[in-house]
Amino acid sequence: MRILNKKIRILNSAQVNGLDRDVKERIADIIGKENITDEEIELKTYSYDASLSRAMPIAVIHLNDIENISPVVKILYENDIPYTARAAGTNLCGAAVNLKGGVILNLSRLNKIHQIDTDKRLAVVEPGLVNLKLQEELEKFGFFYPPDPASQKVSTIGGNIAQNAGGPLCLKYGVTANNVVKLEVIMPDGTEKKFSIYDNGPDISGLICQSEGTLGIVKKAWLKILPIPKFTKTISACFENIEDSMNSVIDIVKSGILPRAVEEIDRMSIDSANENLKLDIPNKTDSLLIIELDSNSKEEIESQYKEIENILKNNKALTINSASKKEEIEKLWKIRKESYPALARISPNVFVEDGCVPRPKLVEAVKGIKEILNLYKLKAGLIFHAGDGNIHPNIIFDERDLEETKRVKKAGEDILKLCIKLGGTISGEHGIGVEKRKAMNWLYNMETLNLFSNIKKEIDIKNLLNPDKKIPISHGQIQKIERQEIPLSDNAKKILMELKVRYNTKQKTQISQSNKEPQKNNLQILSSQSLNRILDLDRDNMTITLESGVKIKDLKNILKKDGFDIELPENENDTLGSIIATKKYINLKDLIISMDLSLYNGDLIRYGSKAIKDVSGYNIVRLILGSMGAFAFILSATLKIKSSKDNACDKIEKFEIKTDNIFYDETIFRIKKAFDPENYLNPWILENYEQISNK
Ligand SMILES: Cc1cc2nc3c(=O)[nH]c(=O)nc-3n(C[C@H](O)[C@H](O)[C@H](O)COP(=O)(O)OP(=O)(O)OC[C@H]3O[C@@H](n4cnc5c(N)ncnc54)[C@H](O)[C@@H]3O)c2cc1C
Repeated sequence: MRILNKKIRILNSAQVNGLDRDVKERIADIIGKENITDEEIELKTYSYDASLSRAMPIAVIHLNDIENISPVVKILYENDIPYTARAAGTNLCGAAVNLKGGVILNLSRLNKIHQIDTDKRLAVVEPGLVNLKLQEELEKFGFFYPPDPASQKVSTIGGNIAQNAGGPLCLKYGVTANNVVKLEVIMPDGTEKKFSIYDNGPDISGLICQSEGTLGIVKKAWLKILPIPKFTKTISACFENIEDSMNSVIDIVKSGILPRAVEEIDRMSIDSANENLKLDIPNKTDSLLIIELDSNSKEEIESQYKEIENILKNNKALTINSASKKEEIEKLWKIRKESYPALARISPNVFVEDGCVPRPKLVEAVKGIKEILNLYKLKAGLIFHAGDGNIHPNIIFDERDLEETKRVKKAGEDILKLCIKLGGTISGEHGIGVEKRKAMNWLYNMETLNLFSNIKKEIDIKNLLNPDKKIPISHGQIQKIERQEIPLSDNAKKILMELKVRYNTKQKTQISQSNKEPQKNNLQILSSQSLNRILDLDRDNMTITLESGVKIKDLKNILKKDGFDIELPENENDTLGSIIATKKYINLKDLIISMDLSLYNGDLIRYGSKAIKDVSGYNIVRLILGSMGAFAFILSATLKIKSSKDNACDKIEKFEIKTDNIFYDETIFRIKKAFDPENYLNPWILENYEQISNK
């Protein structure tokens, strides 16, 4: 959610008495006194980001060396001073303002590239590095880093990681969290940790992504880089109405072709941008679709182009243009890139909403958004990542008109509610921060919100690191909105009930994919065997939802009969639940978009949906991957599928569990406490848990 604000207004000027002199001196000894300031003019500069939220910090600390983050944080922690990391300040949800009047840590000067390793396909960078700077360096080696937010000229890798930023290319290559391999993190108390997707146990690096700077500060990041594909083809198509354009998107996805980008620009946005660009767009055009293909094979691109051209024609495209040369491609993209700044030029303020729906719901979503805009007598340009179902209505208005501003906020809320009702979510990429905390109540049940709160409380015991963000301050009073979602099966309900009973009778559980003997006498097996149903195969959305007891080889057979496939091996005898719990294949992190879980006491956790992108909440999927059944019972999951025409399974990467030291880190014990405080599920996995948690 974002208001492009031309006037800085301090809404919360809760200025505390500044930093204690002793604290200031200790920090100045580390970073130099010129790098710590409490002058009002500078405090005001750091009191806002690209959202509506404002809050004055008591000091701004500019860091020039990544090695200084930890000692500075340790001093703040010892002295109970709230602090917030800040990079370029372009986030759109108030994630980088310090609500408690604490300290802002400016990380934007920490911008070194430590290594570009094209053999290992990794770049190791500091958090303040601007996304585009990295791209420019990589280009010299013929490589790129896929996440490409529209803000990439200014936004940083650290900010992108914290917000799990996306961009046009994320349709094919995944969002930031899919492209981060390892992180060096400063924890809230100042200790340093390294987390990698290849660690034994749950994937804490995946949790840090999308945590909006509330669980740790990224000191260094290992990013996946890829060779620039040899061939690219960009297609633009004009439509008389946006419904035809959205139907084309659904048909393209259904065809099994995975373009690297599918972007939508509506009439109002076209007109705003075209005032300067003067492109030849038919008068009747209501919608422009930009589709980009890439491949190392010219033949593949040309055959995909032909198929897409037919789809566009069948959906009544008025014109279809294509380009393969750099200058021509840039010309086609120009209108997409210019349309947002053009809207910002024609109006004092622009409010960007960010909802995401399952792709087949795009037509309904666009129709509903138009009705909401009419109801509130507002105008908006629709510019969005259509291939992901990630919709951005850009509402133009004048913030000085308080009545109009109220209508804008109401419309924004109604749009989010609509996305939830359609089975989607409240943020595809911009995050929750301060501004969408209320909307979290509409999306999640109380048990899931409690789990998020518990994770934050366990990792940041003193609630000092970017406090009061992402999670509603008090939940339970605001009603969850009825969502189109896949109902729980009767057998899943039985599992919830069984765990409730076991909790009430203090019976500990061993979770298993079969009914074998338990490892220890005091344990009772709970098997996923009864959870053997495919709950939903959504051919238009290219997703499948299945219960955890389904065997992967059976899943593959079912999909193949229907002309689909999934990036998992043939003849895999294990069940879905088992391969998730053991993180048997690393690429599961890129396949799973939602999960239903039961906690130790039978509480139902529903995380994610059939929407392809979702940055609300902490990334529960990444915590369950590799959790060895010690956190929760997996009931079902939704996974991305592909066409069986696409027979490349090059992303399957087997994970070998190192037998020593299954869970090695205290952070994992803390997360265990958030999920299963009394160690009811697979209790032997965290053998020392009880000693450590009683400390
Ligand atoms: C014009 C415009 C276009 C945009 N387009 C897109 C888009 O296409 N896709 C998209 O996803 N977003 C987009 N955004 C939103 C924004 O650019 C992203 O959220 C971006 O990732 C924020 O990066 P930043 O460097 O500005 O971070 P900041 O705004 O400074 O910080 C964002 C959050 O990250 C935390 N943080 C910063 N650095 C670290 C660190 N090292 N460790 C831990 N936490 C840290 C902060 O505490 C804060 O919570 C757009 C914004 C604008 C203004």
